[in-house]
Amino acid sequence: VRAICDVFRPGLRLTAHQSLLFTDIGEDQQKALGELLTAHGVQLSHQISQVRRWSMACVAWPTCGLSIAEAERALPGLVNRLERELAELGLADEQFTLRMTGCPNGCARPYNAVIGLVGKAKGRYTVYLGGNTLGTRLAFLYKDLVPEEDLVPVLTATFACFKEERLAGESLGDFYCRQGPDRLAAWHERQLDRRKGAA
Ligand code: SF4
Repeated sequence: VRAICDVFRPGLRLTAHQSLLFTDIGEDQQKALGELLTAHGVQLSHQISQVRRWSMACVAWPTCGLSIAEAERALPGLVNRLERELAELGLADEQFTLRMTGCPNGCARPYNAVIGLVGKAKGRYTVYLGGNTLGTRLAFLYKDLVPEEDLVPVLTATFACFKEERLAGESLGDFYCRQGPDRLAAWHERQLDRRKGAA
């Protein structure tokens, strides 16, 4: 940030999505800005997956004294695994918000995200689904006290359901909202039964 400020003298804006905007930079300077960021090991927007770009966590441990589960430190690893699952399902280009917090206070706004993961106990999360990218719709509670290691399989099952049953042009958040928790859970159960039958 200091290097950018020294060279370009931009305006700085912090956003509610934890982004830092450099403003008042001319189009003719954007290439040089990209090169400076790359030289400092910062990935550019188009080099980051959609799921990572639209994810956000609160600080949780070790910064917040109210935390009862990991968030900021756990999210990057979770996103690594979700990136692989989404790519395998051909859904890597889907745009949706994913937010994780270390307690139900919800400082990263998980309750209006497409996917919200809320720390409820050590290593366990409540999974909320069905908000939207703009944050104008509340998510519903999908599963409670999900162990951290089960989060990726639980979410991946909903992605697979989305892939099979979405309407043309339907977003993930709208799909969750249309299905609701019971139909999503029933679909997951059927998949698990099918896998057991095949084993
Ligand atoms: S959501 Fe909870 S753990 Fe996260 S910053 Fe807010 S109070 Fe702390």
